[in-house]
Amino acid sequence: MRLPRHNAAFCKGCFNGFVHDQTLKAIRSQQMFTKDDRIVVAVSGGKDSLALWDILLKLGYRADALYVNLGIGAYSESSQDKVLHFSEMMAAAHGSVLHVHRVEREEGAGIRELAMLVHRPTCSTCGTIKRYQFNQVAIQHDYDVMATGHNLDDEAARLLGNVLHWQDEYLEKQGPSLPASVDGFAKKVKPLYRLTERELAAYCILNKIDYVVDECPMAQGARTLLYKEVLNRLETESPGTKQVFYWGFLEKHRTRVMPINMEEKDRAVLHPCSLCGQPTTAGTCSYCKLMARAKASTPH
Ligand code: SF4
Ligand code: ZN
Repeated sequence: MRLPRHNAAFCKGCFNGFVHDQTLKAIRSQQMFTKDDRIVVAVSGGKDSLALWDILLKLGYRADALYVNLGIGAYSESSQDKVLHFSEMMAAAHGSVLHVHRVEREEGAGIRELAMLVHRPTCSTCGTIKRYQFNQVAIQHDYDVMATGHNLDDEAARLLGNVLHWQDEYLEKQGPSLPASVDGFAKKVKPLYRLTERELAAYCILNKIDYVVDECPMAQGARTLLYKEVLNRLETESPGTKQVFYWGFLEKHRTRVMPINMEEKDRAVLHPCSLCGQPTTAGTCSYCKLMARAKASTPH
């Protein structure tokens, strides 16, 4: 496996060691969690989240997982199959648990139908529901931290989008570790931010992790994919561009650009939702508003 950005090449054993080392570096340098913490990994059936679950367990962390079935036809069924198959192996080898949330059953319709009912884009509806359900499971089952499989490509593309549009508010919050700023909000971390998509795909293949190769059909035409393409071109011409861009941002972010105490800022504006109790900046949280709108628009 050639890694031009590190000017190195590894055999299988050393490559696995490299992936584990990079993940450990991320966890320790960002003080994400310790061996005593209980972690819930958000798994989608894709390579990144399944690799993350596998890596954390192999490194000796206490990691369970949550899968949200979005009800997007064949795509959701095949991703659920992959997750279930993988979780059986994780349960047998490490005793870890998989939680499954089915949007069709719990919210009453698949994600596309819900988006149509509330007249919002599918991905923003999906984001609201996933954020809510992940937080809910973390709080209900007493997990200390919620981990997602975002990798270096995801984070660099997101940063590019935020910089191109000078999204100050998003730039402030972009980082691999978001503290649990108030009661009722789980801490969120991204332990794979030092590894690329290509490296994680290679990790899955080398370790026989069977994942869904197709992107979610709703992702087609998403801006992030364009930003990833642009960054890939730059990376080919100049290996290491993505890591210099994103890691450099984190370094500056930490030392001088954003000296804001996010915890204090959040505490000042968040309070419990009047319907469900999860933290929100408004009287009613965006999930409860969305569900109320969907209910009101459902033909009786
Ligand atoms: Fe959800 Fe959109 Fe991502 Fe699909 S592409 S998982 S609908 S946010
Ligand atoms: Zn609510």
